[in-house]
Amino acid sequence: MMQFPLTLVHVLERAEKLFGRSEIVSRLPDRGLHRYSYAEFCRRARALGGALQSLGLERGDRVATLMWNHYAHLEAYFAVPCAGGVLHTLNLRLHPDDIAYIVGHARDRFLIVDDVLLPLFEKFRATVGIEKVIVVPLSGSPVPGQHEDYEALIARSERLSMPAIHEEDAAGMCYTSGTTGRPKGVIYSHRSIVLHSLATATVDYLGLGNGDAVCPVVPMFHVNAWGIPFTAVMMGAKLVFPGPHLDAPSLLDLFQGERMTLTAGVPTIWMAILQALESEPGRWRLERGLRMVVGGAAAAESMIRAFDKFGLRVIHGWGMTETSPVGTVNFVKRETVALSGDERYAARAKQGIPLPFFEVRAMSAGDEAPWDGSTMGELQVRGPWVAAAYHELAAEADKWTADGWFRTGDIVTIDPCGYVKITDRMKDLVKSGGEWISSVDLEGALAGHPKVAEAAVVAVPHTHWGERPLAIVVLENGESATAEELRDFLAPRFAKFWLPENFVFVGEIPRTSTGKVMKAKLREQFKDWKKLE
Ligand code: ADP
Repeated sequence: MMQFPLTLVHVLERAEKLFGRSEIVSRLPDRGLHRYSYAEFCRRARALGGALQSLGLERGDRVATLMWNHYAHLEAYFAVPCAGGVLHTLNLRLHPDDIAYIVGHARDRFLIVDDVLLPLFEKFRATVGIEKVIVVPLSGSPVPGQHEDYEALIARSERLSMPAIHEEDAAGMCYTSGTTGRPKGVIYSHRSIVLHSLATATVDYLGLGNGDAVCPVVPMFHVNAWGIPFTAVMMGAKLVFPGPHLDAPSLLDLFQGERMTLTAGVPTIWMAILQALESEPGRWRLERGLRMVVGGAAAAESMIRAFDKFGLRVIHGWGMTETSPVGTVNFVKRETVALSGDERYAARAKQGIPLPFFEVRAMSAGDEAPWDGSTMGELQVRGPWVAAAYHELAAEADKWTADGWFRTGDIVTIDPCGYVKITDRMKDLVKSGGEWISSVDLEGALAGHPKVAEAAVVAVPHTHWGERPLAIVVLENGESATAEELRDFLAPRFAKFWLPENFVFVGEIPRTSTGKVMKAKLREQFKDWKKLE
């Protein structure tokens, strides 16, 4: 068989030949909508690639982006790797010192930045050695003289002469969000991105096709917006980008106006959307069966049920920066069709079935845990889009086993049908009297109480039991509730020793830039908690 390189060059050329008339819509900072065709996108991506080459881009050079989700970011997604560079997306929600650390560690040579994000860049500019700064005039204001104007570059660019790209060449890179320590860099190859796109597009997983209108709400600065921009261009789907407007009404207007059929984001986004739909019934008419891919943190069963009432389908998935990111996605397997309503929802709240070529195992005390749906173990994974190392960080080599499995740090059960269920992150499990308690399960159940807006459960030290779970709860606006009431609500669902003695009511739960509860911060805050009975 012919050795044919799996590269993004093919994806771009395919889009040019086949999908020139597909559409790309972007919400701009002034809330207006920018529209153009794939033909225009492909032309401009090539022009940008050519411009980068004439500015001196060489193979393997890192080009950082500090951008919201929009057409110009998509242009960079293809221009940089097809010109032989490495697209390095920067998380604009991080502290400027962390961004500076990441830019320095990656040794980024170029930066493409939205004009509206220049004030953020100014906060760390002096501490990084970027050679060329290219500014996208999104809001229309003139580009400061010391920087390159993105539009002017594209207008005068020579067409890109594509260098010979090998499928193992680096195409992109992203740093982990640092929930578990210093950010670590992961490099994606052309091959890994292409295979990830092919596998996620399949019908049982994202089922992303040419007829879809797709809106990645998940930021393009975090793990390539779960690969959706690449997958959508591969299939020629209509792409819709929310720009900087991520509040629920703006998103819902966009979903309605552009007739969205598929969208993706972290649970915090969907919780806000759900509240908006419930508080103004009938205001938005969405496509029936709109699929919402939810991942990055657990999707509570109550949320999946609530969206079903609106005819909207939550698709739960799991992944990590190190896994490109998609590893498992939930779909109804043939043998589970007969499940009753409640069992079906419990199954849909699991993180799902591994993608083809993505292997999973749960390891407990050195042995592989049985797929019985109850034995917990650490999830280890391997496959063609799982990182083999961190970028220039030899100290973390023990994250991989001697036989090449990546240790995710997530604790899971796997059931006989192959559904993976995340019960916790290793360091977030509560160990009470030698037994594990899953904070994620308790949080998910609490979120189903009508008065609870959100909840987090952390371990607090206990002299007798070692650790006990403490529930930290944010109530819905104007509601009040007692600890007894919440404990009674949990009681029928869990073993008695799982039930938290104490509930603390707070105004807000701290979250990271990528929507995860900051458990370490909560543990620190409540480490001297004494009020247990
Ligand atoms: P970081 O590792 O820096 O927090 P990632 O975005 O790579 O950044 O986070 C990956 C982690 O997020 C996973 O290891 C897992 O703990 C959590 N996660 C992702 N998806 C889900 C999900 N559907 N349910 C529960 N946890 C999830």
